[in-house]
Amino acid sequence: MNRCLLCNQYFIPEISFLNILSPVEKHEAKLCQHCLNKFELLGKIRCFLCSKNLNKEGICNDCQRWQTIYRNDPLKNYAIFRYNAFFHDLMVNYKRYGDYVLYQVLQELCHEKLKSMNYDAYIPIPTSPEHMEKRQFDTISAIYADLVPLTPLLQKK
Ligand SMILES: [Zn+2]
Ligand SMILES: [Zn+2]
Repeated sequence: MNRCLLCNQYFIPEISFLNILSPVEKHEAKLCQHCLNKFELLGKIRCFLCSKNLNKEGICNDCQRWQTIYRNDPLKNYAIFRYNAFFHDLMVNYKRYGDYVLYQVLQELCHEKLKSMNYDAYIPIPTSPEHMEKRQFDTISAIYADLVPLTPLLQKK
């Protein structure tokens, strides 16, 4: 029996074959199915640059405009979930109210996808010293430091 980090209800996690067979793949589910279902996965047909869902694959109007301003690809953003009201509330509680334990919810939402991605370096966007002081933790490294090797190369201006 696990306890859901968002609704506090006890739930029985789904048992996958990977969990049974592989000692490395031990992952404790942190969210019940009811809460998980409130997060909307983005569809497969999306903008190559910003992940916005489109009717056909390509580059969305916003990104085309950015490209004319910045010439080459300004930024590639890969999103897994739509930023719906539920996601918004999660981020408000995590970032504005500094609810540290929610880093585990965000890990739960992205750890599977991260395994299938491979980059040369994972560079966290730094938190401002004022926010660090207020929350007493770094919102980005709290989520990702356990999942990928982080290379902190940037500094907040
Ligand atoms: Zn729940
Ligand atoms: Zn786009």
